[in-house]
Amino acid sequence: MKHSELVARTTNIASEIAAKHAADVDAKSRFPHETLAALKQAKLLSAAVPKQFGGGGAGMLELGHQCAALAQGCGSSGMILAMHHIQVACIARHGIGSPFFERYMRENLVEKQDVVASITSENGTFGDTRSSICAVEITGDAMKLDKDATTVSYGEHADAQLVTCKRTPDAAPSDQVLVLFEKGDYALAQTGTWDTLGMRGTCSPGAKFSGHGGADQIVPGTFADSSAQTMVPYSHILWSSLWWGIAADAIGRAAQFVRAEARKKPGTVPPQAVRLAKVHVELQAMRHNWEACATDFDELGDGAAARDALGQMGWALKMNQLKMSCSEVAPKLVHEALQIIGIMAYKNDSKFSVGRHYRDVLSAALMVSNERIAGKSASMLLVFKDE
Ligand SMILES: Cc1cc2nc3c(=O)[nH]c(=O)nc-3n(C[C@H](O)[C@H](O)[C@H](O)COP(=O)(O)OP(=O)(O)OC[C@H]3O[C@@H](n4cnc5c(N)ncnc54)[C@H](O)[C@@H]3O)c2cc1C
Repeated sequence: MKHSELVARTTNIASEIAAKHAADVDAKSRFPHETLAALKQAKLLSAAVPKQFGGGGAGMLELGHQCAALAQGCGSSGMILAMHHIQVACIARHGIGSPFFERYMRENLVEKQDVVASITSENGTFGDTRSSICAVEITGDAMKLDKDATTVSYGEHADAQLVTCKRTPDAAPSDQVLVLFEKGDYALAQTGTWDTLGMRGTCSPGAKFSGHGGADQIVPGTFADSSAQTMVPYSHILWSSLWWGIAADAIGRAAQFVRAEARKKPGTVPPQAVRLAKVHVELQAMRHNWEACATDFDELGDGAAARDALGQMGWALKMNQLKMSCSEVAPKLVHEALQIIGIMAYKNDSKFSVGRHYRDVLSAALMVSNERIAGKSASMLLVFKDE
């Protein structure tokens, strides 16, 4: 498949920069600053900003290929890029028409290539992104917010934070809005560490957030809408694409290993080649799953009817199913790569190592718990009738 220039340039950064630093990023649990600097310099961070504001105007399928390409070099970098795009999409799709957000897209996201982080998690809401305890407090044209977050990826390294909270202090927990805070207008006091099994380069410790700004920094509309119409579809499709990228790199290592074995005994097919053939079936199915959802999303277009469709159960179920499927398949694919390669994949200092891949994809099922998602799908399936 011929990729766009955006994806080709990202693929180059993945192999020339991200892959070279991935082991160090993982070992030190440090931010992949070389990769983010390269993306910034190549103006690839504004891929999701519409063309009318100077961005790349990339659709979901192209963004998915971009995240998958980067994740093949470094899973944490792929996740950071995906999370940034998800926040940018919320701003672009729900901030359009607002002078503040339109200026922010042109000046910050496109010209400065700012990086946006996400704070949806909160102590006390137990992983339910559609519920908040904290609330934005508006006084005249100004607003302020305090939030105790459990997990904030690359918060310290970002230029802005997009935060969920209640619309007013006396609003219901699910009556939420998204608020953008720019660097200099907030403090993030780290409350924990980020010494995890995988995705170590995302640098995601808990933090107490305290920020202020203008009331026009509240994303127009409700988070109920921006979540269903944008945050959930972008998250579940882009995450799936990057998990696929991690699995594809692990299986790529298995293929390299099998080819090297074949060269040692010309004329014979190594025994692991059959297992490799079988695992490619699953890899292809996983890819087709996220690509089909991305294509459906792009074909839906963007108008009142599309937004309405995204708010319906059919789309919610499709997104939940994609996330649950890809997050469960990816670790199995990496496990297969480990079985095919054997001890050389188990060793951390081998060129065939898949240890980092394995640990990184284990986060997939937890990153919004599959059990929680399955619970929501179960309730919908009680009343949903497919066409
Ligand atoms: C790599 C990574 C990066 C992240 N980055 C960010 C970030 O940048 N910003 C941010 O805000 N958050 C971030 N998060 C947090 C993430 O979005 C989730 O909020 C968090 O992973 C959920 O935490 P939890 O497992 O305690 O949640 P919970 O959903 O409370 O799950 C806890 C346990 O309860 C079980 N459970 C929950 N609901 C049900 C149910 N209905 N039925 C049965 N069992 C259930 C689950 O199986 C799980 O074992 C990140 C997480 C990861 C892994």
